[in-house]
Amino acid sequence: MNPILIVEDEQPIRELIRLVLKPLGRQLETAADGIAASRLLDGQVYDLVLLDVMLPGIDGFTLMPQLVDSGTPVIFLTAKGAVADRVRGLRMGADDYIVKPFEPAELLARVEGVLRRTGRGSHILRAFDVEVEPVSRTVTQNGRPVSLAPREFDLLVCLIRNRGIVLHRDVLYERVWGGESETDTRVLDLNIQRLRKKLHWADHIKTAYRIGYMLEGAP
Ligand code: CA
Repeated sequence: MNPILIVEDEQPIRELIRLVLKPLGRQLETAADGIAASRLLDGQVYDLVLLDVMLPGIDGFTLMPQLVDSGTPVIFLTAKGAVADRVRGLRMGADDYIVKPFEPAELLARVEGVLRRTGRGSHILRAFDVEVEPVSRTVTQNGRPVSLAPREFDLLVCLIRNRGIVLHRDVLYERVWGGESETDTRVLDLNIQRLRKKLHWADHIKTAYRIGYMLEGAP
């Protein structure tokens, strides 16, 4: 599974998108201008790019051929009222567009929709006897609902999406807590303990001593 790239020059919007997409449990990367985006696209495959039209350096339209050539799904971010931009973006091969300012729930649903349609994300995540639905944030075990706190949920999604891979503590903090520097390091261990208990997964969530955690199974 490849990361999602957010290309947006306005820092508050970039951070908002990052926050809204966090429940997906996917690796998120950001670029603040077209040149930085183009460089990232040269070196890395992305499952989806959220692309702002108006960017310093190289604009969104100019980046499109590079994305279309590599077969990367694109969602355009356009300003309210810029109908011509939307049409142009779709004609150039974008998979969808979002009008700013956007509703967080709509953004998440559209991103899920494009990932699903392009076969780059599974709607329902499964591991052992647990099923997780990332958009509605529901968890069931053997068909019975399991109640998880928001961070426990995010942590579970992250572990399942990276099954069989040891996730470094720093990576888990970054993806679940968004890199909040003041987060107590015990918070992660505490949430892992609760997950193990609630799901009876004491054996399934492995501790990599001094490194991090891993959900057992094939990647
Ligand atoms: Ca912009």
